[in-house]
Amino acid sequence: MTDLHRLSIREITEGLSQAKFSSRELTEHYLKRIATLDGRVQSFVTVTPEQALAQADAADAALKSGTAGILTGVPIAHKDIFCTSGIKTTAGSKMLENFISPYDATVVAKGKVAGLVTLGKVNMDEFAMGSTSESSYFGATKNPWALDHVPGGSSGGSAAAVAADLAPFATGTDTGGSIRQPASFCGLTGLKPTYGRVSRFGMIAYASSLDQGGPMARSAEDCAYLMNVMAGHDAKDSTSIEKEADDYVANLNATAVKGLRIGIPKQYFNVAGLDAEVKARVEESLKKLQEMGATLVEIDLNMTESYVPTYYLIAPAEASSNLSRYDGVRYGYRCENPVDLTDLYKRSRSEGFGAEVQRRILIGTYALSAGYYDAYYVKAQKVRRLIQQDFLKAFESVDVIAAPSAPTTAYKIGASLDPVEMYLGDIYTIAVNLAGLPAINAPVGFDQDNLPVGLQLIGNYWSESQLLSVVHQYQQATDWHTQRAAIAEEKA
Ligand code: GLN
Repeated sequence: MTDLHRLSIREITEGLSQAKFSSRELTEHYLKRIATLDGRVQSFVTVTPEQALAQADAADAALKSGTAGILTGVPIAHKDIFCTSGIKTTAGSKMLENFISPYDATVVAKGKVAGLVTLGKVNMDEFAMGSTSESSYFGATKNPWALDHVPGGSSGGSAAAVAADLAPFATGTDTGGSIRQPASFCGLTGLKPTYGRVSRFGMIAYASSLDQGGPMARSAEDCAYLMNVMAGHDAKDSTSIEKEADDYVANLNATAVKGLRIGIPKQYFNVAGLDAEVKARVEESLKKLQEMGATLVEIDLNMTESYVPTYYLIAPAEASSNLSRYDGVRYGYRCENPVDLTDLYKRSRSEGFGAEVQRRILIGTYALSAGYYDAYYVKAQKVRRLIQQDFLKAFESVDVIAAPSAPTTAYKIGASLDPVEMYLGDIYTIAVNLAGLPAINAPVGFDQDNLPVGLQLIGNYWSESQLLSVVHQYQQATDWHTQRAAIAEEKA
């Protein structure tokens, strides 16, 4: 079989269980594609062929002996922010260039228990700070739809690997849009779960009150399979919720689109930077959902103008605290020949962190410093609560809220956006993290340059099944999610 990479996750599980192909064949197929095609996409930081083939052989043995689970033998790529024992975890930073974790992140461990085969670790913005994946110490990942464009970020490697058919699905993390925006830029489906739904244990921290892992794949159905592995309580993460996870696959048709009330925030569709074609594609997708029986309800989200300033205070504040551990002593890169301790700290951090990470550490440290703490950090926390209340009020009259995932399609590589311009591009995603809500991106068409456009649906707390179900039904009625970039059509 030469087209194994075109199969959906469900088709892969059926093929494996009916012994139409083995996990080894499937894994070798993906490894060959990575070896042949990833030089142009640069989505992987580390490829792990030996471990992958060993895991594939173990999976084949389990499949033969009847001890296999539903996903046993299915390959996956992990964002390089999830710790993997014995395999480097870099978080896209020189600081962790040679870091090998002694343990697996819970998400990775659960993947192993489920029988997933790890193909390797995929690229990301340094410490997940960014929207293009260009801030990675290991170089920029390319968008499979247009190799001179960015795949988005920070989970740009995850998105590019799946969009180029170098992995059937991938893990991502989302602090302010890092699953949804790259999914949007690469024509994929990506789910940011409710805060606390997926364990953060072993996931390198950026902003702990906002960070959440989730699945990235071609379809809602594929995401549901991975969500079944990732979700659930974890005693090792104190912010993980003791609430049983759903069976997201079984629930794929559980929510009716007919009668679904979709809120359309007036403020969102009047944002100055909203590209006309993005707006048009999103509106067309909403029309389609309306034809399928949904009701569109205009709503107000009055705090929209506060999203960017609030997020860009809280996220850097938490980052400055989280990243203080990388001092060249306890963790991370250490400079050569320090003259004294201060020099060691100073140069290790100046040489080990890139420009964007340093900018955020400076902003965050400033906001948390004595004398400014109340004026900035405490105030931002109060605004954060108002943003959450704004959403909860909206959910009194609607079931889900629709928005673009990003105001534009993918930027050109090196478009050298100034930082504030880049931050403004996060307008549609960051409030969801501030409120701790779940949200999903679904591909809904293309702009004139054939770059994908994404629709975002935001749900109330714990509504992951509902979001996946609505997108699944939309995807049964449309074929945007089945479109492939030219490089994905190439044979290895
Ligand atoms: N672009 C946002 C930032 O730079 C979000 C990143 C993320 O979700 N990790 O902070």
